Amino acid sequence: MTYLAVAIFVNDPESALAAVALAAGRGAEMVEFRIDQFTADPRKLAALIRRSPLPCIVTCRPVWEGGLYDGDETHRLATLRAAAEAQPAYIDLELKAYLRDPDALNNFTGGLILSSHDFRGRPADLFQSVEAMVHADACRVVKVAWTARSLRDNVQAFELLEAGHKPTIALCMGEAGLPSRVLAKKFGALLTFASAGDSDTTSGGITSGGTAPGQVSIDTLKKLYRWDALRPDTRVFGVIGQPVAHSMSPAIHNAGFDAAGFNGVYLPLPIPPEYEHFKATVTTWLDYKPLDFRGASVTIPHKENLLRFTAEHDKRNEIEPLAKTIGAANTLTVRDDGSLYASNTDYAAALDSVCDAMKLKRDQLRDLRIGVIGAGGAARAVVAGFAHVGAAVTVFNRTPARAEQLATEFSPFVAAASLDAIADSVCDVLINCTPIGMHPNVDASPVSHWPKQLPGVVFDTIYNPVETLLLRQAAARGCVTIGGAEMFVRQAAAQFRLWTGLPAPADLFSRILVERLE
Ligand code: NAP
Repeated sequence: MTYLAVAIFVNDPESALAAVALAAGRGAEMVEFRIDQFTADPRKLAALIRRSPLPCIVTCRPVWEGGLYDGDETHRLATLRAAAEAQPAYIDLELKAYLRDPDALNNFTGGLILSSHDFRGRPADLFQSVEAMVHADACRVVKVAWTARSLRDNVQAFELLEAGHKPTIALCMGEAGLPSRVLAKKFGALLTFASAGDSDTTSGGITSGGTAPGQVSIDTLKKLYRWDALRPDTRVFGVIGQPVAHSMSPAIHNAGFDAAGFNGVYLPLPIPPEYEHFKATVTTWLDYKPLDFRGASVTIPHKENLLRFTAEHDKRNEIEPLAKTIGAANTLTVRDDGSLYASNTDYAAALDSVCDAMKLKRDQLRDLRIGVIGAGGAARAVVAGFAHVGAAVTVFNRTPARAEQLATEFSPFVAAASLDAIADSVCDVLINCTPIGMHPNVDASPVSHWPKQLPGVVFDTIYNPVETLLLRQAAARGCVTIGGAEMFVRQAAAQFRLWTGLPAPADLFSRILVERLE
């Protein structure tokens, strides 16, 4: 069993007991009493340990190990010995303190946790420390925690858990360490720490509460990251990008896995922009087979990196031809034989959104005149998709050279024009692929002068807000409108199908997206 543990700083035992009750109510299964600043009568501490409704760890962390206790070491150890008399389930003692005095807590017959923490990064002597803990007779539990320098550090934490010489706690702190906190259960850790506070759904669930950077709330672990469903064979997915903390994708895909009964979990996976970071991280995650890393949504700035990596990594890998033409892939699928498939679900999502709104089949799109505003990454996918089906596309862009570049690449289906030319355009469908009108600049619209001959359909790829000013202007003129949420849900649904082989619960995806945006 992997316990969900909550750390509580103890000043006054009565408030600490109330905090344990609250944590237990929220699903905590163990509590760590942090007595770094506890100065009251030691008998009150003993009473607290005995009355705790959850099994407890007692910790008095000194400042030299990142804690708050800055008093005398002899007094600290005497306090821990007094706590030991009350028989808590565990006492946490720093490896350094233990090595100085291995008999310091020899009155304790419960589980002695030997621990090592580094808030600056991965300690150079990580494996030596673990070795020392494993060989210390008194040590029942090995605990290491360090600040992740990158996602790769999580794999070292998993390796330590897998080695399993003794019950182990191996956690990485900081945003990049989130996988170690969530997947502690997959790898059979003794526990993971979570906060008992409210979940913060706007930042990937990472709260400002808790006792270490990167800690998430119990609520977030359970509701967002599927804690109760995690098993050793759970498949791991995620969204690779920078930044990814505010991505909607974990909420959508994890809810989808839940609804479909699929044994998977989906995490935010931040990777710095450079190709070398992408390559090193994805290689490490793929090569560590016990992780079951089976796929990812890939967003800015890594869509080109995914194509390059897939082409370089393994001869068996495959790239969807149109993703190659677009020059960007947003989906990584790891197939059963370990080879990779890189594809782009954005363009198909755009095509299908228009088909649905106009009640057309894909091959009927060739008869349409499409106006695309913008010539960046999203526009490129949309233009490539419509050019591929043979529609006549005009790209309206602020920087004419970028529009002309697209026109040249996708000749003869694409023409280039200035933004002003929208006023004289004749399109069946007008698609905004710029960020104009996106939150927080919701009072802006990319169309200042509407053409005399209105487009039948106006499609804004922006999904935050759900209804942009452009869509309101279009609806007021009688145009059919399509919001970016629809495209977002469709591209996510296609990813879900690729990874699970199951139909995607697209209505659920829409509901979650809209709920989170409103
Ligand atoms: P991008 O690569 O940065 O391209 C932005 C484009 O917008 C460029 O062509 C740029 O013109 C133009 N632009 C930006 N600010 C402008 C302004 N103030 N006035 C005139 N033109 C301006 O961005 P992207 O990745 O293509 O993303 C664009 C939008 O697509 C995003 O905001 C997002 O909302 C949406 N999107 C939606 C989905 C979905 O699933 N619904 C998926 C992807 C993207 P220049 O060439 O002159 O710089």
